[in-house]
Amino acid sequence: MDDYLEQILHLIETKGYARAVDISKNLNISQASVTNMLRRLDSEGLVIHEKYRGTTLTEEGHRIARAIIVRHETLTRFLRLFDIDEDTIYHDVEGMEHHVSRPTLNVIRAVADALEADPQLLEHVREQSR
Ligand code: MN
Repeated sequence: MDDYLEQILHLIETKGYARAVDISKNLNISQASVTNMLRRLDSEGLVIHEKYRGTTLTEEGHRIARAIIVRHETLTRFLRLFDIDEDTIYHDVEGMEHHVSRPTLNVIRAVADALEADPQLLEHVREQSR
């Protein structure tokens, strides 16, 4: 469900609208499954799914999607402090984001902030992790 909301917001922000065909392509999931999920999200009040007009987010759906994207960005920002290639970072973030709790995410954000503010400490940690 998170991946859908994340993708819908991403599409709305880049293209102005989210269509099942684009969600299906981006998530590599069949269009039938996407349509089912959009109906479910609609019944839960998170999206408004209109077959020919694309899908929009409700206020609640938008709020949740925004939090999902911020979580993705926080994890990415943390891993980018180290010598990890972008493909690995993306893959790891996509896995981690589904499991990480709010308290743990807060710790990761605080550690990222502290490392960014202290280049010497950051260099030390980078060396230790090589
Ligand atoms: Mn993600």
